[in-house]
Amino acid sequence: MHLTDRITARIRSWGSRQLSYAGRLALINSVLATLHSYWSSIFLIPNGIMNKIEAICRNFLWSGKDSYQRAPNVSWDTCCSPKDEGGLGIKDLKTWNRALLGKYTWWLANKKDHLWVRWISHVYMKDTHWSNYDPPPDCSWTLKKIAHSMILFKQAYTNDLWLASDKEYTVTEGYAWLRQSKPKVLWRHICWSPMNVPKWSFIFWAVQLKRLLTKDRMIQMGFGHDPCCYLCSAADESHDHLFYQCPFSTHCISYLQQKLGVHFSADSLARWDSNGRARSKLQRKIISSCHVGVTYCIWNSRNKARLDAYVLRPENIVRNVIKDVLARFWAKNSSVLSTRDVRWIQGLS
Ligand SMILES: [Zn+2]
Repeated sequence: MHLTDRITARIRSWGSRQLSYAGRLALINSVLATLHSYWSSIFLIPNGIMNKIEAICRNFLWSGKDSYQRAPNVSWDTCCSPKDEGGLGIKDLKTWNRALLGKYTWWLANKKDHLWVRWISHVYMKDTHWSNYDPPPDCSWTLKKIAHSMILFKQAYTNDLWLASDKEYTVTEGYAWLRQSKPKVLWRHICWSPMNVPKWSFIFWAVQLKRLLTKDRMIQMGFGHDPCCYLCSAADESHDHLFYQCPFSTHCISYLQQKLGVHFSADSLARWDSNGRARSKLQRKIISSCHVGVTYCIWNSRNKARLDAYVLRPENIVRNVIKDVLARFWAKNSSVLSTRDVRWIQGLS
């Protein structure tokens, strides 16, 4: 069976199940990980196939199906960035393919005693140094790709002094070099804490990027006309209104603060972090997880209000989130707690 058909079949077999975004993300990462074994058996995957695999994964992430008509909420490029840099850490297949080719340039540059190096040096490059090689216009697709990779990696092997070091080339390092890292986002630890329920993390991530499909965005895209907030019916629904100004959300956040005994600004996690510095690491972890949970519940309540015209009481939402966070904490914790932390946790229950 063709590679893309195999991936589509695998995704379809899961598609009928009600998976959250986080569940779909886990499935995409597992599918892409299995490509490794396929990769090791061939030279490189053509771009056309890469585009198809990418489209299947992208559609599945946003719709749960292998086809999707709308524009995705977040660009694929952002999704492929590491979580520390504001992405989802999905592997960027095209860059990975290029990094894989970098290995061949590395062999050439290091004059590795390898049958492939001897073959390409004698048949194609002859007396030309690898860094100056210009392939003939009628050469094979594979040779063109390798020549392109040589141009790409020339800088890494010379200016970045990889050749001067004793390190062997690894595809992971080549991938990191090609990707060119971006600044780390302030909310990375809060968003991806293992204490969070995975589906909370995913929605919190989309909230940080302001990429959830709120009514203002839907109307802009041509869907619907009524801009009114589902939760309060008192203002137009936008990202900022829903998460920071809506009376329902501010009620949730202020009740959460009251229960946890902390004060923070809902739209300023960085400030909140510094406020929390006087607290123990454990308390800060629990506080941030509760905040991520309540953020998820605001979005979930909005969706419930849209479908069922039913809204849970903010007090119940907050109590349930704290209960979930503490249950996850006790299930994972194996260390002895300080008396101060034990008293604080007891006060939350
Ligand atoms: Zn509202």
